[in-house]
Amino acid sequence: MTRYKYLLAAIALFVIAIATYLFRGHHSFIHECDDMHSKANADTVQPEPIVKYGMTLNDFEVMNHVVKSGELFSDILSKYNVATGTIHSIAATAKGIFSFTKIKAGQTCTVLCEKTDSQLVAKKLIYEESKVSYVVFNLDDSLYIYRGKYAVERKTQTAAGIIQSSLYETLEQNNISPVLAIKMAEIFAWTIDFYKLQKGDKFKVIYDEDFAENESIGIGEVKGIVFSHGGKEHHAYYFEKDPAHVGEYYDENGNSMRKQFLKSPVKFSRISSKFSMRRFHPVTNKWKAHLGTDYAAPHGTPILATADGVVEEAQYKSNNGNYVKIKHNGQYKTQYLHMSKIGTGIRKGARVKQGDVIGYVGSTGLATGPHVCYRFWKDGQQVDPLKQKLSYSDPLPANYKTAFLKQVAPYKTMLNETNWDATPNSTTVAQATL
Ligand SMILES: [Zn+2]
Repeated sequence: MTRYKYLLAAIALFVIAIATYLFRGHHSFIHECDDMHSKANADTVQPEPIVKYGMTLNDFEVMNHVVKSGELFSDILSKYNVATGTIHSIAATAKGIFSFTKIKAGQTCTVLCEKTDSQLVAKKLIYEESKVSYVVFNLDDSLYIYRGKYAVERKTQTAAGIIQSSLYETLEQNNISPVLAIKMAEIFAWTIDFYKLQKGDKFKVIYDEDFAENESIGIGEVKGIVFSHGGKEHHAYYFEKDPAHVGEYYDENGNSMRKQFLKSPVKFSRISSKFSMRRFHPVTNKWKAHLGTDYAAPHGTPILATADGVVEEAQYKSNNGNYVKIKHNGQYKTQYLHMSKIGTGIRKGARVKQGDVIGYVGSTGLATGPHVCYRFWKDGQQVDPLKQKLSYSDPLPANYKTAFLKQVAPYKTMLNETNWDATPNSTTVAQATL
């Protein structure tokens, strides 16, 4: 048996030697054909082929051109000696695929010319349209244009950080995209006041990030996150009930992270008049109950639906002005008065999601200045929304709970095994073309 092994090894070595010899011979043969002058260098190592846009770039003389402000696409083509006639033809061929007027300053063009040409004439021009797609102009004998896409690689990343001064700074120091700060603030919008983060607050997060050509092109879903604020840990996990539903965030017990109502229908406003059973009305000069909460905000400020629902009324009435009334469920309705304009598509029967713009602040109807009068109904009675104990929105129904816990378990483990001061780590999960 041992003798056979030696024999096999000897044969293998012999085969490798022959193959190497043949391979080298083949190479020098190509060299002789390509360029007689390089014969003396036949033994030098061939450079690694650079493949991009589905082409081997080494075959060409490659030039990079960054589009200057005000530069026309035809300017670039003529700069690389493309004949005027060809430019006209390519503009005609491009119709419906790419508009010459769409080129943007700062984007890159890769120009490929024949190596042997004494005057460099662009044979192909590749315009980098975005981080994921490019347009190839073939300017050779046959003119054609096509759009190419890079393969997008999705990586699942883990990151952590302990806040010293600000969340942004912590992300920056740990080389994590600041986009994550916005995502975290959205996920915990009902739980943590991100304007009141303290030194020592910390987070661990698992999220998707997409890469094209090894460059990050964007942050995807946050899969799981634990945020410790003032010593209390808050967990959130992303879960899609089924493909027909947009995913949502739930705490570790399957309670939705989204409360039923936004605190206010306008961002950055101030309450100019509270809900009260008796108020002196500035326009009518009469004492009357004010069954709404007035939020003063500049004319034109977007008014947001404070919860998901169906539009019940969207119209003009003399006192209310332009207003919208939304039915959220069997128990709650909200109404928004004095709009300068009702939002596009907001009409009776339209479905709205929490945070959708339903109109704009104005002073139509009985109003002295720009504000939105926000009215809140519970079981048919107008109540003060600020005094309501608003519970979490629907927890996951029992039939989804098992699937949720199963899906969340590995993320929970990953978060547990990550240290608060860990450096970012990633695992490739998928290769996808977007
Ligand atoms: Zn009011």
